[in-house]
Amino acid sequence: MAIIIDGKELAKKTRQNLKIECDELKNKGINPRLAVIMVGDNPASKVYVRNKSKACQEVGVEYEEYLLDSNITQKDLIDLIKKLNNDKNINGILLQSPIPKHLDINEAFRTIDYNKDVDGFHPMNVGKLTLGEDTFVSCTPYGVMRMFEEYNIDLCGKNVVILGRSNIVGKPLTQCCLNKNATITVCHSKTQNTKKLTKEADIVISAIGKPKFITEDMIKEGAIVIDVGINRDENGKIVGDVDFENVKQKASYITPVPGGVGPMTVAMLINNVIKAAKNQNEKIL
Ligand code: NAP
Repeated sequence: MAIIIDGKELAKKTRQNLKIECDELKNKGINPRLAVIMVGDNPASKVYVRNKSKACQEVGVEYEEYLLDSNITQKDLIDLIKKLNNDKNINGILLQSPIPKHLDINEAFRTIDYNKDVDGFHPMNVGKLTLGEDTFVSCTPYGVMRMFEEYNIDLCGKNVVILGRSNIVGKPLTQCCLNKNATITVCHSKTQNTKKLTKEADIVISAIGKPKFITEDMIKEGAIVIDVGINRDENGKIVGDVDFENVKQKASYITPVPGGVGPMTVAMLINNVIKAAKNQNEKIL
């Protein structure tokens, strides 16, 4: 039976440590501040944004929100980002995805000052991650890496299979694992024989958005299984990509959904805002 990786508890501990760092910055007159932009009213995004705002409040990070109409123009979105880039009181800027199809999200991400890019989506930060340099690592992959650290799971030489190759999760996660000397296989919707690949993996990380896609027969005995997926099942219940109840019988470690990667994603966002505030005030610290 697998050890359950408790993301909720680890995120709580992370926020407590971040609060200490945040208080220290405040004592020096630095008030870390995050600006969040949300376009339209996607119900899932609303929940994510609410969780981010709650976590900021708990840690003491100042928070402001821009709720934009779904038919906003690209120019207005870009102008807002530029305004926030120039605002010295704001340390981090986050554009909540998805945004409506008529908008160019890549241009928007590129416009965010990379020193304030707490989501790690700017090409400069993506490039730095690829080079193995210090950077803003995008929050979900960063959260997964923190879980490995906390549970003393060494990736060096491990066979890791990642399902999903999105810019937000799969690709940066691949780079993070490679930086830790793992051997990586990335599966996507065109991959043939996914089961053969996952069955040989020491670690399976799923980020595809398909309820209960990873079944017990897809993993080897003692594998480590990380579930990034957040889906609703046929009863409207939040579930991951992994058939948790059955897979946990065979895995050595497993993350639950909810209470796994999700809370860590939010905690790492706050971590990045504090890092941004420190970087931007390097001279006085
Ligand atoms: P996405 O942009 O839709 O990407 C999904 C990826 O899965 C794509 O690369 C797709 O391949 C691949 N895929 C689809 N079917 C597959 C299959 N049968 N086998 C292997 N790969 C397959 O999604 P995302 O934004 O990365 O999010 C993925 C999941 O993670 C979602 O459930 C999302 O809600 C969740 N999520 C959770 C957190 C968190 O904090 N826990 C954060 C972000 C996202 P192609 O590239 O070929 O289309």
